[in-house]
Amino acid sequence: MYRATLIPGDGIGPEVTNAAIKVIEAAGVDIQWDTRYMGQIALERFGNPLPEDTVKSIENNKIALKGPVMTQIGGGFRSVNVSLRQQLNLYANIRPIKSFEGVKSMYKNVDLVVFRENTEDLYMGIEHMVGTDAAESVKIITRHASERIASFAFNYAVKEKRRKVTCVHKANIMQLTDGLFLSSVRYIASKYPDIEYNEMTAENLCMKLVMCPEDFDILVLPNLYGDLVAELGAGLVGGLGVVPGVNIGAESAVYEATHGTAPDLAGKGIANPTASILCGAMLLKRLGERTASEKIHNSVIKVLAEGKYVTPDQGGRASTDEMAEAVIRNL
Ligand code: NAD
Repeated sequence: MYRATLIPGDGIGPEVTNAAIKVIEAAGVDIQWDTRYMGQIALERFGNPLPEDTVKSIENNKIALKGPVMTQIGGGFRSVNVSLRQQLNLYANIRPIKSFEGVKSMYKNVDLVVFRENTEDLYMGIEHMVGTDAAESVKIITRHASERIASFAFNYAVKEKRRKVTCVHKANIMQLTDGLFLSSVRYIASKYPDIEYNEMTAENLCMKLVMCPEDFDILVLPNLYGDLVAELGAGLVGGLGVVPGVNIGAESAVYEATHGTAPDLAGKGIANPTASILCGAMLLKRLGERTASEKIHNSVIKVLAEGKYVTPDQGGRASTDEMAEAVIRNL
C-alpha cells in the first residue's frame, strides 16, 4: 500500500480529485490518502490558506494529488500555489500537451511537453511601489535554477525517447536575465548531442505554435513564459479540462490539473474530470505502477474518442461521476 497526500482544493477541486481517486482504486492500486487542505477552504477552517500540516504531509509522503485552489487577485496575498512550490522547492512544472481523438480542437497531432522553471523569474513576488504612481517588480534568474530545469528536460527527453528540445526566451530584450537562462540551457544542451536542440524567442514561438504545433516536442522556459505558453498549449488540444500537470522537485511531486476552481461549475457535478484522472495516471507512473497508469490513460482516450460519456464542456451530457464510471468500465 502507498501513502499520498490528497488536497481536494476549492470549487470543482473535490469533485474532480474524487473522480481520479475512484479510477485509481478501480485500476487496482491501493493508496492510503492523507487528506489535507489549502486555499479558501483552509482559510475558512483554520485561518490560514496554506496550513503547515499540509506542507508537512507532502514532505512526508513525497507525493500528492491536488485540486485547484482559489487565489485572491491583487488583494495583497501571495498566491498559495506559488508559496507551496517555493516551500517544497518544486522547481519544475511539467505539462504534457497531447491531442485526443474526440476532443474538439483546431489540431490533431499535437504532442509536446512544456518544462517551466517554477521557482524564480517575476514570480518571486518581489514587488514594491515607487512613490504612488509607479510599481516595480524584480525579475530574478539564476544559473543554478536554469541549468536544473534544462537538465530535467533533457533527461526526460532521453528517458521518454523524445527528439527535440526548444529553449524559449527573450534574450534579445532582457540580455542579462533571459541571456543567463539561454546560456545555461545551451550549456546543458551541449551535454546531450543526441537530442536535437534549438532556440526561439517567446513571441516567435507563440506564432509558430499556433501555425504548426506538431513541429514542437519539448519546450523549456523560464517561469512567466512557461505559464503563458502552457496555457496556450492547452488551447491547442481542447482546453484546460484535458491537460494534466505536475510540480516536481528533488524530494516531492504534486500532481494537479491545469484548470482553476471553475466557480461557475462548482457543486453542479458536471466538471470535466479528464485532467485530474490523467494526473492520477501520471502519479501512478511515478510510484512505479506503470501498467495501471497506462490502463487509465488508454481508458480515458477511449471514453473521449467514443464521446458518449463526456461532460458538457466536451459536448456531452455526462456528469463528472458518470464520466469517471465510464473510464472505470473501460480499464
Ligand atoms: P478556471 O480554469 O477555473 O475557469 C476557466 C473556464 O474554464 C471556466 O469557464 C470554467 O468553467 C472552465 N473550466 C475549468 N476547468 C474545467 C473543467 N474541469 N471542466 C469543465 N470546464 C472547466 O479559471 P479562472 O476562472 O481564471 O480561475 C478561477 C479560480 O481558480 C481563481 O481563483 C484562480 O486563482 C484559481 N486557479 C487555481 C489554479 C490552481 O490552483 N492550480 C489554477 C488556475 C486558476
